[in-house]
Amino acid sequence: MQEYSRCLRRQGKRIGLVPTMGYLHEGHLSLVRRSVRENDKTVVSVFVNPMQFGPREDFKKYPRAFKRDEEMLRRSGVDVLFYPSSKAVYPEPYYTTVNVEYLTEPLCDRSRPGHFRGVTTVVAKLFNITTPDSAYFGRKDAQQAAVIKKMAVDLNMGIKIVTMPIVREKGGLAMSSRNAYLSEEERRDAAVLYEALALAKGMIKKGRRSSGEIKDAMRGLIRKKKTAKIDYIEIVNEDTFKNISRPTGKVLIALAVYIGRTRLIDNIRLKAGYYQ
Ligand code: AMP
Repeated sequence: MQEYSRCLRRQGKRIGLVPTMGYLHEGHLSLVRRSVRENDKTVVSVFVNPMQFGPREDFKKYPRAFKRDEEMLRRSGVDVLFYPSSKAVYPEPYYTTVNVEYLTEPLCDRSRPGHFRGVTTVVAKLFNITTPDSAYFGRKDAQQAAVIKKMAVDLNMGIKIVTMPIVREKGGLAMSSRNAYLSEEERRDAAVLYEALALAKGMIKKGRRSSGEIKDAMRGLIRKKKTAKIDYIEIVNEDTFKNISRPTGKVLIALAVYIGRTRLIDNIRLKAGYYQ
């Protein structure tokens, strides 16, 4: 892969990279289509990265459907499907990691310690292997996208990080490979993540400015669902991910909720011009 990327670069080709863990859906494909539009060659990586899963997490049972993914990518005009083995990515002994400080501390890392270190390490490796001009990430994983942007700037990687909006099911549920774990009842309950975000947005639109009050209302709504258990609900500054007590400026409302045994995340952004 590295040799091929270098060869493309020598020919002056623009390379776009879309890193994924496979089990593809429309969210992934929105990134793929943008990359195909903006580059001469698009590389999609499919790699379920063991380093970003905690010891009690779902690495082993993470959904995999390689043939289906391959077919979807073929139809989307992707040039290269890169699917390395764990052994090739992490040859034994493996000693080197990449870690972004501060931005990784709030939100997801609290309940998934070491998660972002795993993400930045594998993405740095994928960048070195595929040498992209641009790499594409979804804002569903807003903290991940921000952390990767910071890594690319701090380490002078010279790669443009492009982020794309969240693609949702009809009922509002953010598309995710992990939705495959949900039973019918759980899938119905899972719509509450987006409903809670919409509730928060509506409250802010009406002039409510207490993060505490807004989060309480969101909690109240989510707790009505039998299968739901809140991991976190946070109202933060979109750039720093620091908590804010009064939403104003560029705000991210983010949450993680267990639906049954499945942990789902979602968020919405409010732009500076949102508040009247
Ligand atoms: P994953 O395979 O879950 O690691 O996701 C690979 C990339 O697709 C990440 O950049 C995600 O943020 C992005 N992605 C996943 N789900 C969605 C979605 N519903 N909308 C937009 N992007 C998404």
